[in-house]
Amino acid sequence: MKAAIFNIERFAIYDGSGIRTTVFFKGCPLRCPWCANPESQQQASKLDQWPDNALPLAGEEKSIDEIYAEVIKDKDYYIASNGGMTLSGGEVMLQWGAAKELLRRAKADGIHTAIETCGDVPIRAFEELSEYTDLFLYDVKHMDEERIRSVIGGNLKRILQNLSWLVKQKANEIIIRVPVIPEFNHDTVTITQILELAKRLGIREVHLLPYHVLGIHKYKRLGMRYQMPEQGIAKEELLPYVSIGEQMGLTMRIGG
Ligand code: SF4
Repeated sequence: MKAAIFNIERFAIYDGSGIRTTVFFKGCPLRCPWCANPESQQQASKLDQWPDNALPLAGEEKSIDEIYAEVIKDKDYYIASNGGMTLSGGEVMLQWGAAKELLRRAKADGIHTAIETCGDVPIRAFEELSEYTDLFLYDVKHMDEERIRSVIGGNLKRILQNLSWLVKQKANEIIIRVPVIPEFNHDTVTITQILELAKRLGIREVHLLPYHVLGIHKYKRLGMRYQMPEQGIAKEELLPYVSIGEQMGLTMRIGG
């Protein structure tokens, strides 16, 4: 079995606790104009469609054996630091068959597993993967159906239905993540609506991810136009949202 991936990052300290290895899968159902990994959006590595100077970004198909061989190298570090393996993307759950095999092997070896997801995938993917996943980092970007559809091409109903299903399986093992984006959701009304959703569902922890422009250079290499502001958001700007969440009894954090 193979997976289309575009990076394996060892000694990562984001996207879950401790020292981790993060596997970045290709393919995403959404088209966020601020995406820091635009190379991840297409699943197939159709090299003939990529500009020459972007080829290093195209990714590759690797066998599960090859990927897991990288992951298992750092098992001692995971154990010592409460770390583990994170599957990210793109959207890993589009390749749920390959993901399941990686997660199954990690669990069998006693390695903590996390998935970062946009949630806009068939419920089948959650049904297949939830048993092998210790932590879901679940993006909720907006609570307005029309904004989700028109700005990022997503389906809010499906995102929320999947989240409700997941909560029934493992409410304590879900962290909601909100990329805070200028001119999209960087306002008190929208962020409060997302925090209220977390509270209502019994999810205890919310992470706010400040907008950044670290991926901007990739757009040029891919021949794509970057349509968002060229300056990131300072962490301090998010502190009022942290206070609102804490007043609701949520554990809040800025950053992933
Ligand atoms: S969900 Fe994530 S990977 Fe997909 S387009 Fe949006 S930012 Fe990029």
